[in-house]
Amino acid sequence: MSGNGKAPASEGNGRPTAQLDHEELVVRRGRRTGLYVIVAVHSTALGPALGGARLWCYRTPGDAVADALRLSQAMTMKAAAARLDLGGGKAVMCADGEFSAERRRGLLLDLGDVVESLDGRYITAEDVGTGTEDMAVIRERTRHVVGLPPSLGGSGDPSPLTARGVEAAIRACCERRFGSTDLSDRSIGVVGIGHVGARLVERLVRAGCRVLATDIDPGKRVSAEQLGAIWIDADTPMTTACDVLAPCALGGAIDAGNIGELRCEIVCGSANNVLADESLAESLHERGIVYAPDFIANAGGLIHVYSEIHDLDRARTKQLVDGIGETIAHMLDEAEERGTTPLEAARQLAAERLERARRGEPAAA
Ligand code: NAD
Repeated sequence: MSGNGKAPASEGNGRPTAQLDHEELVVRRGRRTGLYVIVAVHSTALGPALGGARLWCYRTPGDAVADALRLSQAMTMKAAAARLDLGGGKAVMCADGEFSAERRRGLLLDLGDVVESLDGRYITAEDVGTGTEDMAVIRERTRHVVGLPPSLGGSGDPSPLTARGVEAAIRACCERRFGSTDLSDRSIGVVGIGHVGARLVERLVRAGCRVLATDIDPGKRVSAEQLGAIWIDADTPMTTACDVLAPCALGGAIDAGNIGELRCEIVCGSANNVLADESLAESLHERGIVYAPDFIANAGGLIHVYSEIHDLDRARTKQLVDGIGETIAHMLDEAEERGTTPLEAARQLAAERLERARRGEPAAA
């Protein structure tokens, strides 16, 4: 949430599609605010369902439910593919335009009540529109919350580790496409210079890349340039010519309208549900564009909060995050062997792990 008291506007990418195969869906009007709070628990087969709490201004409550259903499903896949003992869930809070700090706090407490009522089957964390300080507010109503500020014993902002994982994924894709993990000759377009995007720019500049940066908010230009990126005033940022396109804004950035115009060799970023429609993975494949499934590339944030739950030390946590590169390489191999897209290979591998867990077999992939 921006500090100006304005709730972010609806994504405007049309109604997201969602399939209902979830364990639980809670839709409740908060008793303090009367605003909708939605929690979708997709699966607890591998462990408690973990997923961030999104604060957003949706066009309709139905859009919010669809978002929660879709995002929670992706969290199940993400945890399974990252080999974590966690299930998938997601919370969304429906903001209603501009609202005061007091009302915002009320909405976070409303969410805390819903999370508490799920008795540990769902653990919440930060997501778009929320931050570590918000987790501290939710903590007043439930202990099933991670991503707390370090002052409360939490691990703090997950974005640096998310960016670290995306870099590992980019390197793995570059090895596949260009035969080397070296990034020093690469041009990389980062779209969305928010928490993750800014960290990614920093890392890529340090690795010697030519980083092209853009954001819908022109106010991000100064900080992007200070980090060493070249600002591009693109009306159509997704069609920037570069080796690697790293979408780090919102979902649905690649759609049927722009996919034919992409001018990159690799798509690998942090944005969740970057493809407006999953069948677009096939189109990327046909065009020879290497696509790193978003739920694998951006798993660093999940590993970060996982480390908080299991009290892992920093070195072990970073090791797990760096393993994202190996997971991507493995997915790309599997996709080739199975004659399918990396997205389909990732889904199949995650589904196989879930199925083993449902049958009570060892969960290791
Ligand atoms: P953020 O809100 O801090 O940043 C998003 C940025 O994207 C903002 O600067 C915004 O102005 C910009 N933006 C929005 N629409 C845009 C558009 N159409 N074109 C260009 N820029 C646009 O969010 P974040 O925490 O950096 O997360 C970014 C993405 O990564 C989200 O999809 C999020 O779900 C995903 N993600 C984040 C984490 C994490 O650790 N924060 C972990 C996993 C996945």
